[in-house]
Amino acid sequence: MSLDSETREMILDTLRRYAEDRLTNEYLLELDHKDEFPREVLNELYDPMQLGLHLLFIPEQYDGLGGGAYDIYRVSELMAAIDLGIATGVLATFLGSDPIRVGATEEQKARWFNRLAQESLLMAYGATEPQAGSDLAAMTTRAVPVEENGAVTGYRISGRKQWISNGGVADLYTILALTDAGPTWFVVERGADGFAAGKAEDKHGIRASNTAALFLEEVYVPAEQMVGDAEGQGLQQAQAVFGYTRLMVGTFGLGAGWDALKKAIRYSHERVQAGDTLDNKQGYTHKLIVPNAARLEAARAYIEWVAERLDSGENGLQTEGAVAKYMGTEAGNKAAEDAIQALGGYGYTREYMVEKIKRDVRITTIYEGTSEIMEWTIARDRWGEHLRSRGGYYFDWAERLEAKHQVEPQNGAGVAALALRALAVILERCRLDRLTRNQHILFRLGELIACAETAALFAERVLSHPTEAIALDQATRQALARIYAREAALKVATDGLRWTIGAGQSDPELANKLNLSAIYASQAGLIEDMNYARDRLNEAFR
Ligand SMILES: Cc1cc2nc3c(=O)[nH]c(=O)nc-3n(C[C@H](O)[C@H](O)[C@H](O)COP(=O)(O)OP(=O)(O)OC[C@H]3O[C@@H](n4cnc5c(N)ncnc54)[C@H](O)[C@@H]3O)c2cc1C
Repeated sequence: MSLDSETREMILDTLRRYAEDRLTNEYLLELDHKDEFPREVLNELYDPMQLGLHLLFIPEQYDGLGGGAYDIYRVSELMAAIDLGIATGVLATFLGSDPIRVGATEEQKARWFNRLAQESLLMAYGATEPQAGSDLAAMTTRAVPVEENGAVTGYRISGRKQWISNGGVADLYTILALTDAGPTWFVVERGADGFAAGKAEDKHGIRASNTAALFLEEVYVPAEQMVGDAEGQGLQQAQAVFGYTRLMVGTFGLGAGWDALKKAIRYSHERVQAGDTLDNKQGYTHKLIVPNAARLEAARAYIEWVAERLDSGENGLQTEGAVAKYMGTEAGNKAAEDAIQALGGYGYTREYMVEKIKRDVRITTIYEGTSEIMEWTIARDRWGEHLRSRGGYYFDWAERLEAKHQVEPQNGAGVAALALRALAVILERCRLDRLTRNQHILFRLGELIACAETAALFAERVLSHPTEAIALDQATRQALARIYAREAALKVATDGLRWTIGAGQSDPELANKLNLSAIYASQAGLIEDMNYARDRLNEAFR
């Protein structure tokens, strides 16, 4: 399921041109400064005569375009590079319609998707509550059945939702509320009696997005607006789309991070210090530019892999979605932070945009599941794989990579295999010494797993799956894959050693088993690869 490449390119081009004309830096800075939600921009983006962006999320049989995960990735990356606040307004409609996509009856899908497509409605997704964020099970919003002659004809919903994107501006809301059978989604229309939104939150970033609390006081919702035909399916329905939604937010990190990095690269061509431009100074490029490009492209390789799998019909992929989100958003956040440093004093002022991008991208490590919740999700799942495979999960993957390295020696596959082997050793040591009883160890494993898997995927795919999404040639991306594989192998081994020793591991030979000497030896050629990547990045983003 995805668009043909011509249609996708047409959408991307139209969006690019729209942004060039309409969403100038001056305008975006003004929205940010005034903390203003640009309703008319969202209307234009959703207008089928202009862009009809929301149609991408709507299946074809309901008058949508039926875009797939790959299309959503490409459009989301571009939107995030334009403005993450506006992108969040679009994301909220996508999120809001998700419970319908996965849980609604055919009749309900026809009703709501047709309206969404034809009326270009803005949606909001109401799950979080003041005391129930990462732990949605703590929610208290209730839906009490209303009965007539022994049959349930509707529900009265009471409670409060917190931090809802589009909360104050949406036309239609999906609201998660507790029934006797458990959390259940309901479609609530703007203006329903007893339903009100709070004032727009005054936020650190994405100030062009509207975020508001929702108040529900005995809001009556007809029974046919309960999503699906049974109560209590809400959390499973929310889970079912995490593969998609987390991929989308991971892509936001990628788009915003690259936008900041490109600004830093361009700035470094002009800025002269100590007799030369900054783009010629290793202390600058090899710290602030090249490692960020490597991390962002590693995240892209993983994102593209997940998108292809989703589009080929695989279900779930919640763990892979979590890795994509975690790596894309952390890489984006770090790239934007370093871009401020790269512009020095100018970076710290508003005019150069990187300061705004940094504030904007910060949200991506929080919403749609925080980075810590991603670490936990990844660790929990892969820990299970490690146990089920009796330690073979990552050893087998390492073997496949080593075979790949024999035929494609330029992609860092041999070094990524060292990362996977070290990871397998660390996991096994954690099992034998029961170290995951420390929550911190489990979460750190989540980080190391994400890091090693991303290096492995980047090395595996860099040659066989060239990307259309960025103007970097194969040789440059191969150099970035080698740089990233070295970083990942060193991190897995040294952080893994640190935390297992810190938690009281019992094997005096552990350092040797991690093959630290080979991992250090694999750093040979690093500076040369960084020089090469710097030169190509300087050429690509003039
Ligand atoms: C701008 C914005 C827009 C948003 N849009 C929406 C929206 O449209 N719809 C919606 O439903 N929600 C939305 N959210 C809510 C968002 O998804 C939550 O803020 C997020 O899930 C975190 O929940 P919380 O804020 O309650 O933080 P908490 O869950 O209280 O977390 C606080 C900190 O504790 C950590 N933590 C939490 N649990 C654990 C644990 N078990 N172990 C270790 N550490 C833990 C977290 O990682 C975090 O660092 C939005 C939030 C913001 C700020």
